[in-house]
Amino acid sequence: MKTPAFLDRQRPDVPDLVVPGGVTPFYLQGRPVRGRLVRPGVLADVMLTRHDHHAAVTRLAGKALSVVAALASALKFQGSFSLQIKGNGPVSLLVADCTNTGALRFYIRADEEAVTALLSEKPEPSDYDLTGDGYLALTIDQGPETERHQGIVDISGDSLTDMISHYFKTSEQHACWISLHCELTDAGWRTGALILERLADDGGIHIETDDTPDDSWNTATILASTLKASELLDDALPPRELLFRLFHAEGLQIGQPRALAYGCRCSRARLTEILQNFSDDDLDHMMLDDRLITMTCEFCNISFHFQRDDISSEDND
Ligand SMILES: [Zn+2]
Repeated sequence: MKTPAFLDRQRPDVPDLVVPGGVTPFYLQGRPVRGRLVRPGVLADVMLTRHDHHAAVTRLAGKALSVVAALASALKFQGSFSLQIKGNGPVSLLVADCTNTGALRFYIRADEEAVTALLSEKPEPSDYDLTGDGYLALTIDQGPETERHQGIVDISGDSLTDMISHYFKTSEQHACWISLHCELTDAGWRTGALILERLADDGGIHIETDDTPDDSWNTATILASTLKASELLDDALPPRELLFRLFHAEGLQIGQPRALAYGCRCSRARLTEILQNFSDDDLDHMMLDDRLITMTCEFCNISFHFQRDDISSEDND
């Protein structure tokens, strides 16, 4: 017997991939510095290759994945962290989000003709060349019980790193240092992030060095700047070793690594629920000649097909 759509929990053909040590949190003892190293590994390739974009667009998406993974890992409660960029460039919309448990997803809307035109003029476009002018929003959503926190700034800067740094400069109290990379390597697409946050230097945490908190922060960012993209994206270089190379003389303390995973949970059942909220009239409008309704999950880039006759509107009152 055929499973009715509303019971069909089957997920599309997407990998149930979990990368156990995707995020490595750390802090520098006695210094006002904490940070996260993000290495999604093969998960980046799996997610990015589900979508057929120019490499320049894929690179931007990959960096967005790393940065939301880094920022979400600082969430203290259940919830998600999302980045949205809306601009007037060839990439008109970029959405990436990550839950506190490390479930990652993204989608990017690009005008492929406009991207091609840009690339013919400028083979290596900046992130800004792709997004154009517009805004960048970061949203923390910790469930219906709490207030959603959203900050919005204009797109400012050449790279996604600059855009996010601009956000932190204008809307947050503490300084933040960010490095983001995404490249097509021999092993496939890889992305990574190194983020340092400056903690408020009160409360006597400054105990172990003769340097001032400013000196300690500056030293940490100078050391972090020596990290090469090739090191950040190298699967063969374990996170601990990479962090040790940079910060071994700075009181490095490594925390419990956290997992990252393929984050979309779309299923026929979930989409059926959505369809049932439409009126019969709307459902009839969505239907094509063959009485099929097609719903596409933009995150997974997968289309689900439903028989119109299997969907009954619950909006009948
Ligand atoms: Zn999906």
